[in-house]
Amino acid sequence: MQTKKRLPTSRRQPEPKPWDDWRWQFRNRRRTADEIAETLDLGRKERLALGEVVKTYRSAATPYYFSLMDAGDPLDPIRRQCVPDTREITSEGGVEDPLEERAHSPVPGLVHRFRDRCLVVVTNRCAVYCRHCNRKRLWHEREKTLTPHELTAMAGYIEKRPAIREVILSGGDPLTLSDGRLEGILARLQAIEHVEVLRIGSRMPVVLPMRITERLCGILRRYRPLWFLTQFNHPREITTEAAAACGRLLEAGIPVLNQSVLLKGINDDFRIMRQLLYGLERICVKPYYLFQCEPVKGADHFRVDIWDGMRMMEKLWKTTSGLCLPRYVADMPGTQGKVPLQPVSFL
Ligand SMILES: *Cc1c(COP(=O)(O)O)cnc(C)c1O
Ligand code: SF4
Repeated sequence: MQTKKRLPTSRRQPEPKPWDDWRWQFRNRRRTADEIAETLDLGRKERLALGEVVKTYRSAATPYYFSLMDAGDPLDPIRRQCVPDTREITSEGGVEDPLEERAHSPVPGLVHRFRDRCLVVVTNRCAVYCRHCNRKRLWHEREKTLTPHELTAMAGYIEKRPAIREVILSGGDPLTLSDGRLEGILARLQAIEHVEVLRIGSRMPVVLPMRITERLCGILRRYRPLWFLTQFNHPREITTEAAAACGRLLEAGIPVLNQSVLLKGINDDFRIMRQLLYGLERICVKPYYLFQCEPVKGADHFRVDIWDGMRMMEKLWKTTSGLCLPRYVADMPGTQGKVPLQPVSFL
């Protein structure tokens, strides 16, 4: 019907699509052995085995990350990163805290191994629990986030140490916190006079790219210089959604770097690794580190022989652009830090 006056319109928003809503993805994480078994169509025996692992090492994966896997293939690189494996509880190797982080934690949640920078664990919660995680020991406690009291204690410690010029927000995944809480932490840390640079380590661009909203980027850009470190481990993780998430960060003026973990049967093949590195270069995410998998209890079956890793790196170095090349390192216990693993022919 035509009227002379413009009719008022309702303020009703179009229905948000749950798939694109990070909170929906987070709430609908597959967590229990039954949920995983159902999604993967596993039999009773496999479901029981999964249940046993989950009792020791919890499990969660977003519907988004699950959708990237070939569910029928037990060797699928996405599946192996997020679906529990009985070797996590049967394999003998590894220790809970190979980097001796606990011994270098002067206040709860703060790890200070190197003089000029420190790391704050803001939560032990993640969108996806990577089976190869080197902080699996934190999963024995229920999911929790930093309390205001803990933040005050951390900030107090940093304030008294002018040598600390860089603070890394880590976890767990810091981006499981709400925008508001995250901003509160960033603001508190940036307010410290000698803190020059902030860093966030998060796997969200890979496992829940919807979390990188325009709103979040709008907040993060106010805390620059801020560096964003993520963890792509396989070329199939570089999806349209993941590329767009990194693009939003880059457009907000936040450099995005990648730290992969060298994982047996997942990315320890030269061609796969090269595909990953080329893919990262294409989306302007600079490969920073390739970590030798630590001897972590519950993740020992992912470890690759160091010499095989070095041979792969040598081939990469000879055939790819410098922009693609990460530094292959082993993180050593305590204050020794990340040690480059370079074959002699590199020198
Ligand atoms: C890895 C790590 C850092 C950062 O080291 P970079 O080599 O600067 O990336 C800082 N603190 C702790 C405790 C770490 O484990
Ligand atoms: S996102 Fe990081 S902290 Fe969380 S499980 Fe994966 S590797 Fe561990």
